[in-house]
Amino acid sequence: MTVRWGLIGASTIARQFVINAIRAQGDGEVVAVMSSSPERANTYAGENGIPRGVSALADLLGAGVDAVYISTTNELHLEQALAAIEAGKHVLCEKPLALTSADARKMVAAANAAGVVLGTNHHLRNAGAHRAMREAIAAGRIGKPIAARVFHSVFLPENLQGWRISRPEAGGGVVLDITVHDADTLRFVLGDDPVEISAFTQSVGMAGSGLEDGAMCIWRFKSGVIAQSHEGFTTKFAGTGFEVHGSEGSLFATNVMTQKPVGSVLLRTGAGEEELSFDREDLYARSLRQFHAAIRGEGRPSATGEDGVWSLAAAEAALQSAKSGKAVTIDPKLGSAA
Ligand code: NDP
Repeated sequence: MTVRWGLIGASTIARQFVINAIRAQGDGEVVAVMSSSPERANTYAGENGIPRGVSALADLLGAGVDAVYISTTNELHLEQALAAIEAGKHVLCEKPLALTSADARKMVAAANAAGVVLGTNHHLRNAGAHRAMREAIAAGRIGKPIAARVFHSVFLPENLQGWRISRPEAGGGVVLDITVHDADTLRFVLGDDPVEISAFTQSVGMAGSGLEDGAMCIWRFKSGVIAQSHEGFTTKFAGTGFEVHGSEGSLFATNVMTQKPVGSVLLRTGAGEEELSFDREDLYARSLRQFHAAIRGEGRPSATGEDGVWSLAAAEAALQSAKSGKAVTIDPKLGSAA
């Protein structure tokens, strides 16, 4: 059975990665795209070989689609996801799922009630590097995990210096953009959940309107592991990385907080140093493959709706901490969607 996809949002991420990832599936087809502007919908459809461009959500949902991929600005995800779920469509939604974890929980509840698949497009847990680290930790290769460090401060490309740095109401800012990914990747690699976070944020000149363009977070996990993460839009030369240090060894991953299947992972123990080998499958293609399998009833999306609630609850807590100057408890059940 072919999965017929409708794109909600004529976005950069769909054009750069997700349309190709859908088409990389033997059973995936993009049948329509929706933009708020009819002109942009048609131009985008033409440029990307998509049969239909529409400007009303009802038209997209009525275009014979089985699943939708939502990659509009963040304030629109909730309403669009709920409408798609109500129409019986499976939903792969970009992060953050919504502007609050309470709203994200509404999406999860609606998808569960409707019996459709809801996934969060946290691409990083699909990277071979992160899966190799998770497996090494789970296999006890670093002994008992003690601490982690995430280096995820980048330079926001000029073509993306729009709503992320100017529109708080659209969910701009580095915390909703990048800290959510770090939350998800830490949870995935460590196989653990964060319980508390303390954050400092800054605005060094790129972001306006009260938005932050840099953040440093300190995390505590259920197991007692502590972590630090650095997210930024303004550092051109920082590079990215992910380290986990345990009682018997350390993992050093370099150039792995990225959209491409690149980077390296070094394991250092008493026995010496070993480069871990891992597959180089496209991150988004793997995400789509897992999503298609979940539609067939085989397993779950690589990041579920619940995972999206977790990452948003963590980002929310980071923003509260930055504002209050106090450590904040992370509890995805807070702000229940009741
Ligand atoms: P874009 O800014 O490219 O697109 C977002 C929206 O902006 C589009 O839906 C579109 O509205 C509007 N837009 C785009 N281009 C134009 C234009 N030239 N003129 C006017 N409006 C325009 O966003 P991104 O692709 O960077 O991000 C979209 C979502 O995906 C966000 O939720 C983001 O957090 C997430 N994301 C996730 C990534 C991941 O790897 N998981 C990576 C990057 C982003 P309309 O649809 O109405 O035309």
